[in-house]
Amino acid sequence: MKTQKLVSLFLAAQFITASAFSAEVLKFKQGCSSGDDIRIIGVGDILLHGSLQTQATKSKSRFKSLWSSLLPVINEADLAYANLEGAVAENVLRGGKEHEGDVGFTYDNQVYTAYPAFNYHDNLVSDIKDSGFDVVSTANNHSFDRESIGVDKTIQALQAVGLPYTGTKTTAFGSDEKWHTVTETKNRRIAWLACTYETNGRRDKLKQVLLCFDQKALVLKTISDLAKDPSIDAVIVTPHWGAEYQLQHNSQQSKLGREMLEAGAVAVIGTHPHVVQPWEKYTTKSGREGFIAYSTGNFVAGQSPIEKRTSLMVSLSLTARAGEKLEIRGVEFVPLLIDRSRGIQSKDMRQAYLNTPEKIAPEAVKIWSDNYSKENIMKPTRNESLESMCDLSK
Ligand SMILES: [Zn+2]
Repeated sequence: MKTQKLVSLFLAAQFITASAFSAEVLKFKQGCSSGDDIRIIGVGDILLHGSLQTQATKSKSRFKSLWSSLLPVINEADLAYANLEGAVAENVLRGGKEHEGDVGFTYDNQVYTAYPAFNYHDNLVSDIKDSGFDVVSTANNHSFDRESIGVDKTIQALQAVGLPYTGTKTTAFGSDEKWHTVTETKNRRIAWLACTYETNGRRDKLKQVLLCFDQKALVLKTISDLAKDPSIDAVIVTPHWGAEYQLQHNSQQSKLGREMLEAGAVAVIGTHPHVVQPWEKYTTKSGREGFIAYSTGNFVAGQSPIEKRTSLMVSLSLTARAGEKLEIRGVEFVPLLIDRSRGIQSKDMRQAYLNTPEKIAPEAVKIWSDNYSKENIMKPTRNESLESMCDLSK
């Protein structure tokens, strides 16, 4: 596999101030595994406000202009995940009525709109797919921004480009339509399951969106069934949950996150708060090690405060002995920054530190240190490669 050197968040922060973090390193039992690695990256919300949609319509690289400097990192992962927040409903107006005639690729604020009801042109899903993403969540509080027809059209748009999705169903779903999806890489099959805490008060008469808390029993049973399925090597859950703009996760998130791991998930990658929240390693009662990132923050969004422009790309390394299920070997992070200086773009924050440390460093460091110096939060490895996650002294 190609090795992508991911300097950890720890190092990125240490670049600015050596005192912001303790030296604790996140280590897993499989850290020394010599088995094949599968590298999976997960980013946060793709939530495109008007200025971003306009930028995409004016750029040659369309929506990819919003994350073009990250394309190499996304492409080098074996699997890449993002939360697609909003509808992709061609020519559908607010309220679910269809517009007469095609308005084309534009941000007209009638068919294609932003807050409080987001709807994007179909080019978005082909650009997400072309960028190297392999799977998206469609279960979030904006799933119904174009009503039920919007859920259907979003799924049709994803199916048209062959991008797997999880967390929603079409109105025409038959009994075999599943809430989860499966991606394959290196002869291993990873199941993905998304759910959301709510749908902004919109009624889901046809049960098209999976709810994390109201349908918790179904969520946990689905995870458990997938984990027991011999054809599935790992289950990753991507809940849309938590309180917006809170730098700490709440007890509802940690309870459900741990229950998801107990049910058989190997990792939980959360979104919705629009800011980064803590992460943790959690060992299940049966001794299996799992990982929860409570919120990875905004991958690309138009919100301006620094805490909403700083986010995480989580990089999970999974490994397994032949014939066994995948386990976590290590976790690394790329700190991301949504840079608004010359066209909005989500970038690797390390480069931004190098270019303009005086501009962003103090605020960003404050956020990271406030958020990650708490006792119960495990630190990622301080080192540059997964080799350093192998601690033979343990
Ligand atoms: Zn949300």
